[in-house]
Amino acid sequence: MNRAQQLEQLKQDLLSRREALTQALAGDLTMLQEMRRGAGDVVDFAADSAAEVLSTQLAQSASRELSNIELALLKMKKNCYGQCEECSQNIAWPRLEALPYAAHCIQCQRMLEELEEEERSYGRPISFPNLGTGSPSFRDSDLV
Ligand SMILES: [Zn+2]
Repeated sequence: MNRAQQLEQLKQDLLSRREALTQALAGDLTMLQEMRRGAGDVVDFAADSAAEVLSTQLAQSASRELSNIELALLKMKKNCYGQCEECSQNIAWPRLEALPYAAHCIQCQRMLEELEEEERSYGRPISFPNLGTGSPSFRDSDLV
């Protein structure tokens, strides 16, 4: 496989993952609505709200992944896929194969994780002026 074929393969993976997530999210909403309808019973209330919290968390992580996938697909379209958002170096191919919507190279990813770790231990955000400024902002209309 050459690079273009590999890229096409990744794109197909992203598209089917997007499809699965979209369906999961749609199903999740249906589930939530059904739970609300049945929420008159006091005994089942605790179980219902626990399930609701879990399903909300799942929905949140699914929609986060979904937006990462959208972004990756958009980058493919704009021919800037596979570039680190922080340092603009090419992200190593094995990393992209493992995580097709990776936005950062492994070095920057580690640095960002360390930074998050430090923020947690300090209990306050550390200002990091370079963070997030390197990526262009996308509109929803670009994603079609
Ligand atoms: Zn980087």
